[in-house]
Amino acid sequence: MIDAKLATKSHLKDQKIVNISETLACGGESIVIIGGPCAVENLQQIESVAKKLSGTIHGLRGGVYKPRTSPYAFQGMGEEGLQILSKVRSLYNIPVVSEVMSISQIEIMAAHVDMLQVGSRNMQNFDLLKALGQAGKPILLKRGLAATIEEFVMAAEYILSHGNPDVILCERGIRSFDSYTRNILDLGAVVALKQITNLPVIVDPSHAVGKREFVAPLAKAAIACGADGLIIECHPEPEKSVSDARQALSLEDMQDLVESLKPVATAVERNILQQKRAVCC
Ligand code: PEP
Ligand code: MN
Repeated sequence: MIDAKLATKSHLKDQKIVNISETLACGGESIVIIGGPCAVENLQQIESVAKKLSGTIHGLRGGVYKPRTSPYAFQGMGEEGLQILSKVRSLYNIPVVSEVMSISQIEIMAAHVDMLQVGSRNMQNFDLLKALGQAGKPILLKRGLAATIEEFVMAAEYILSHGNPDVILCERGIRSFDSYTRNILDLGAVVALKQITNLPVIVDPSHAVGKREFVAPLAKAAIACGADGLIIECHPEPEKSVSDARQALSLEDMQDLVESLKPVATAVERNILQQKRAVCC
């Protein structure tokens, strides 16, 4: 028995709709697709993604504070990266999501992005979760590397119980014994979370498998089993990605993928959110 209150169906029977921005909502009939590189690398990179995909995806992702296993690896562009996201966000009128790693980053990030992501490595950073209760922005909460479903739901409960009703859960794979894929995508958790909680659930197949050729089939499976959206890594030059190159899709593959999701969404009585192409440039 999960000791959550606000996150559960017993508290709120209806599925919650989370407004990511004034124009983008997640949790309704329409499936939301967020795409973009692992990390913001430069303006040209982020602009290319927005330019090519603004008629295809609904939100743009890109990390500026990167939680890397090695302290010697690229740690993200920080505030300079936030300026890039902010510029492209307003030029292309596209909502932006980026990862917040510490309480001290919340204020500046909230000024530049539409949704704050809590990465797997911080899912049980309880002080961060409590502070995000007061962030005034929707939160994309990713499942911890080895978190149980109960721990995941309780992490969401921290944010909700500290005043923020807008939480989207993200299944991104969990650690297991087999290293053939980076992690194991737990689609059973998606079904469970949809049954237990009233929160939207999205899936990140990129970090779950770590290999680009697995991303499209698992994205389809995620929609088929009830996910409300997807977050997928893509890059104008995938092999040149400074981080997570092996799992990055090309922008063309991303367009094909979104197209291929449409019949799957129809089969489960959903649809892929219709996107108006941005007028800019
Ligand atoms: C990411 O989305 O950039 C990321 C680091 O993912 P995760 O926290 O799921 O590893
Ligand atoms: Mn990544």
